[in-house]
Amino acid sequence: MEELFEEPSTKFVELLLPVPIPKLFTYRVPHALQDHVQVGQRAIVQFGDRKILTGVIATVHQLPPKDYEAKYVLELLDDFPVVIDQQFRLFYWIAEYYLCTLGEVLNASLPSGLKLSSESMVQLNPSFNYDESTLEFSEKETILLKRLQSESLDYSAISKLLGVKNLFSILKSLVRKEAILLYEEVKEKYRPKTEKKIRLTSPNTNAKKLEELFKTLASKPKQEAILLRYLQEVPVLNDTSANILGISKKKLLTEDISESSLVTLIKHNILEEFEVVVSRFDTTEKETGISSQLTPEQLHAQREIIESFVTHPVTLLQGITGSGKTEIYISLIKQALEGGSQVLYLLPEIALTTQIVHRLKKVFGSSMGVYHSKFSDNERVEVWNGVLHGKFRFVVGVRSSIFLPFDNLGLIIVDEEHDPSYKQQEPAPRYHARDVAIMMGQMHHAKVLLGSATPSLETYYQAQQSKYGFVRLNTRFGEAQLPAVQLADMGQERKQKTIKGEFSGMLLKKIDEALSRKEQVIIFQNRRGYSPMVNCEDCGWVPTCVNCAVSLTYHQFRSALVCHYCGYKEALPTQCPVCTSTRLKTVGYGTEKLEEELTLHFPNAIVQRMDLDTTRSKAGYENIIEQFERGETNILVGTQMVTKGLDFDHVSLVGIFNADRMIHFPDFRSYERAYQLITQVSGRAGRKSKPGTVVIQTSSPDHPLLITILKTNIEEFYQSQIKDRQQHDYPPFTRLIEITVKHTDKKLCRTSADLLTRLLQTHLQGVRILGPAEPMISKIRNQYLMNILIKIPRGKSDLGAIKAAIQNTILQLTKEKEYRSLRVVVDVDPM
Ligand SMILES: [Zn+2]
Ligand SMILES: [Zn+2]
Repeated sequence: MEELFEEPSTKFVELLLPVPIPKLFTYRVPHALQDHVQVGQRAIVQFGDRKILTGVIATVHQLPPKDYEAKYVLELLDDFPVVIDQQFRLFYWIAEYYLCTLGEVLNASLPSGLKLSSESMVQLNPSFNYDESTLEFSEKETILLKRLQSESLDYSAISKLLGVKNLFSILKSLVRKEAILLYEEVKEKYRPKTEKKIRLTSPNTNAKKLEELFKTLASKPKQEAILLRYLQEVPVLNDTSANILGISKKKLLTEDISESSLVTLIKHNILEEFEVVVSRFDTTEKETGISSQLTPEQLHAQREIIESFVTHPVTLLQGITGSGKTEIYISLIKQALEGGSQVLYLLPEIALTTQIVHRLKKVFGSSMGVYHSKFSDNERVEVWNGVLHGKFRFVVGVRSSIFLPFDNLGLIIVDEEHDPSYKQQEPAPRYHARDVAIMMGQMHHAKVLLGSATPSLETYYQAQQSKYGFVRLNTRFGEAQLPAVQLADMGQERKQKTIKGEFSGMLLKKIDEALSRKEQVIIFQNRRGYSPMVNCEDCGWVPTCVNCAVSLTYHQFRSALVCHYCGYKEALPTQCPVCTSTRLKTVGYGTEKLEEELTLHFPNAIVQRMDLDTTRSKAGYENIIEQFERGETNILVGTQMVTKGLDFDHVSLVGIFNADRMIHFPDFRSYERAYQLITQVSGRAGRKSKPGTVVIQTSSPDHPLLITILKTNIEEFYQSQIKDRQQHDYPPFTRLIEITVKHTDKKLCRTSADLLTRLLQTHLQGVRILGPAEPMISKIRNQYLMNILIKIPRGKSDLGAIKAAIQNTILQLTKEKEYRSLRVVVDVDPM
């Protein structure tokens, strides 16, 4: 009988917390929340003695932990799950495959606006107005809102202000009323986008008053026209509330209406101007649903892709630059959306998005979400929730968009799949978005299309082996032909003394010709700054970074020496600190120096530079692109940013610097990278109608790679590379795992790397362990580095067991007191 009266048993949750500890954490659900708790909701808990964290509920159960008393969940943040089942499965897979913790995956996936913690900052929502709000607020909420009108506050300041310890119910309520926003202090603050609007001042909204107005304006036709147009667009007389919303200024000012007449009407207090906050994702561009017609070649490729998907859910589309891959994507996306499924379109980085997003917006309008690294957190939250609630069924975004809450993906496109920026380097999870996308495709039973003019060798090999489908698109869009590639032999030009500064006579002549034909030029140099090194001509002294084992790069515009690895900066000394000589000279050249030389050689040309230094803000980047598109810039100098899929119609010449450095870089991928970079940047020359020219400056004109590029024989190049990789046991024939041991003490770094290598040798079977070896840059941010490389033969070994053994071995080492301060970084499939 007793069982019948038993208390409902207490619920516990396993929480995924954003901490780098490889486990879930058990918390007890308070009585009041028992009926509301669900997997995928966010919960606020105390972690350790002082920290407050937001976690995500991974499971709900009724088993109390055996050996300790579980703490209570403080608050649930959501009524519904914000992390869904498919995401959990993906997070588990990423943690297991890339050897990192679930907490690290969670940290990378959730925008910090969704992660309320004791480090959160609180600000007033810019679109919220306390005085006009009709919502009800408690006394404490009112105190807080009034204070937030003048400043943003952090958690402890609010706690002090209100005299309460547990703020979460208050903050949750205010977030729900859309009165406040949360953000992390380190991040850029949310700046709302505003729009200027026009409306009648309130005395002018009744019929009688309007009649009078028209009489007074009878002799002022321009002002009368504005008023008429306003009344046409905003039916004030039928609906007085329409006037409150007014009309956007842009919409009111059509061709035949001048701004000065509008200003007069505002001055006379007939109309007024006001500002409203608009969503960044609302565009005036209306969805047209219209995409351009596919050419016969594109149509053919599209049919081949659809056929290939039947047998090969992962298919490679290899289409040369300018063949119109985007048009095919658009058509496939439309089909998938019409079929009722979601679509994810991945792009390597912001550099590519501007132009493509404009194009896609025209077709898909506001049903498309954009997720990108330069967006603030609150914008990211907007997209996250939009996907969750079905507002965005199509998302175009950078690598982190794989973490969004998709529940029904039908198609994933990975554009420029060869691009190394799909791989996250720091911090963990060190995932490759293309490879994760392929896994997501399996989980969702979605089709995955990998697109590139120059596929990665791994992908190409899988396609060639029929593991992936393989579709080729070889015709360039329109009439354009592939550019002619010419080598400028620097050795010979040096003898003939035709080199000026860093420029070959050949390239200077071609630039001159292009400019006189009013055509544009792109100069590519994969190194920013003025010169990568400064050097004392008398004693050979070179300034190096105090934190890293690298020489400092000279930046002329900042007149400083800068470390590209840690950001350390110092002034350029006027004399050598070793021998007091004043003969300090710059060695080598970066984009900044090329820009300077170009303005000297071509004083009438407008030269712009596009690299990390000129594009720190989203606007900076867009301005440079737009000015170049409009033809206001004649020459664009840039780092690899200029290689990435941008379409410019009037570029007829591309100059490539420092090809030699790319070719001779000591890495098994350097040939592939150089080939891809040179081919991609060459693709910028000669688009729609004119064939272009590419000039590569080199001291090794006989290098086999350059000869391959001259012949543009991509098949031959891939075949020779595949043979090479097979011979030397590199991917795709082996899997690589790189382990980096880091410590501030050089000796300890070395001895522990030696010890770890020996331990791995005893614990791992059937693999090759190389190292430990000092990497090219042996110290970064005061940490000495040692690398260990593990080569695992494909298909022959139990990858899961090997990874588990690696993890256990590292754990075994770092448990020892001596090695506790050691940092060990594991990178699966390093790039
Ligand atoms: Zn010196
Ligand atoms: Zn440094």
